[in-house]
Amino acid sequence: MLQDSYKLKGKRKQLAEEIKNQGIRSEKVIKAIAHLPRHFFFPNDFVDKAYENIAFPIEGGQTISQPYTVAFQTELLDIKKGDKVLEVGTGSGYQAAVLKVLGAEVHSIETVRELHEETKTLFAKLGLDIFTYLGDGSKGLPELAPFDKIIITAAAPSISKPLAEQLKIGGRLVAPVGDKSVQKMILVKRDGENEFKQSTHGQFTFVPLTGTYGWQ
Ligand code: SAM
Repeated sequence: MLQDSYKLKGKRKQLAEEIKNQGIRSEKVIKAIAHLPRHFFFPNDFVDKAYENIAFPIEGGQTISQPYTVAFQTELLDIKKGDKVLEVGTGSGYQAAVLKVLGAEVHSIETVRELHEETKTLFAKLGLDIFTYLGDGSKGLPELAPFDKIIITAAAPSISKPLAEQLKIGGRLVAPVGDKSVQKMILVKRDGENEFKQSTHGQFTFVPLTGTYGWQ
């Protein structure tokens, strides 16, 4: 459903408030959550669920991430206007749209064809100028590298060297890394040609990353 209403706007504001209370500090990120209609990215019959702070099943056995998780990863990325960002795992398109609202140039890759095609159509309908790709994002998008920021939105067994090397110096990569049932949120900062600094930020559960550097 691509219509908005006062009721849904109100629910969105409440959701943004809830995320703030959970510890998200970036005003820009909170504003983006309050601004962007999450129900646009939801299956039609479940619009009512769009402003609950939960992950939700979408097509292809995948999920739209929990709004708190989207806000958390986005805050760690520290998006600046004009940042060239690679997202691995387009899914519903919501995270990509949040990045776009924050002024990034978004390149998002998805491995499930139906999700790729649906989000491509949806972005066009919403007038969101987001570049979409179908393929194995675990390898990144070397032909478009380097990126200011990289975000992986599926559970990765590790951060692959080829992906980390697609970061600009000064860039940031955020990814949930662990086994298939639970992951730690990892932030990698590239400080030099061969200098990567890693820090850990809380525990999450994502659907598995597939492909060459995923769980196959
Ligand atoms: N960012 C999404 C959103 O806002 O709805 C949520 C993504 S969902 C938790 C993870 C997505 O990663 C799924 O759509 C899945 O198909 C995709 N995925 C898994 N492995 C992938 C890979 N190797 N390359 C690209 N996408 C992948």
